[in-house]
Amino acid sequence: MPKRKTEKKRLNVLQKKPEKLIDKDDMRLDGRKLNELRPVKIEVGVLGNADGSAYIEQGKNKILAAVYGPKEVHPRHLAQPDRAVLRCRYHMAPFSVDERKSPAPSRREVELSKVIREALEPSIFVEYYPRTSIDIFIEVLQADGGTRCAGITTASLALADAGIPMRDLVAACAAGKVDGHLVLDLMDVEDKAGEADVPLALMPNLNAVTLLQMDGSLTIEEFEKAVNLALDGCKQLYALQKEALKSKYVAVKEAVDE
Ligand code: ADP
Repeated sequence: MPKRKTEKKRLNVLQKKPEKLIDKDDMRLDGRKLNELRPVKIEVGVLGNADGSAYIEQGKNKILAAVYGPKEVHPRHLAQPDRAVLRCRYHMAPFSVDERKSPAPSRREVELSKVIREALEPSIFVEYYPRTSIDIFIEVLQADGGTRCAGITTASLALADAGIPMRDLVAACAAGKVDGHLVLDLMDVEDKAGEADVPLALMPNLNAVTLLQMDGSLTIEEFEKAVNLALDGCKQLYALQKEALKSKYVAVKEAVDE
């Protein structure tokens, strides 16, 4: 399968690409092992005016997610009689990458908004809120590869923070192939100069996959290994998501007790 990156962007990256992305001791450029996640910091309830919100730092990625709803749908004709309509906007800030990005939604952002919505929808009891909408906004403030997955992980927490009934949280992580090695949680240079990446989203408690994509090429055996690696990454992120949710309520309880 051909890589979908534009030729110009790929050439730029390949010109800047270091000779080796993985050294002889199987260490990556940022000092990670092959199966290691980037450092993750998550905070829930960071925005006062949204119904729910969360913020993640995963390596150099910095992403904010906000949720409004369930609320009346505008325009009204979009309302569904039997369920809430889920809407999602994934957006990269102009300053989120090294060369200014146009603030207008690109084709990539439109596509990612759709796949992120589809990855989150199975986790929500949309049938509880007929004729309403739930709006999800994902703002990428700084991008360094894997932003769709980090966006899903964060938006799922923002939905939980908004008090929306959910079957499970959704955690997402990519695995892929770089310099012939299967690796977890690709950063930008690995994503662009590597051979393949496989973003995956999981509802860990239900063991249900809600997003599976592949960019690049892998053998069937490599694909299976990459999926297992990504599943493991999702489970690690799930533990961090639960911790972040709990710490918000511990902080609220302490404030009330004082
Ligand atoms: P994901 O962020 O989910 O991995 P892509 O594979 O499409 O999605 O993008 C990989 C990375 O490429 C992004 O995380 C970001 O760091 C970088 N990128 C995306 N769009 C641009 C752009 N317009 N200019 C520069 N870098 C970009």
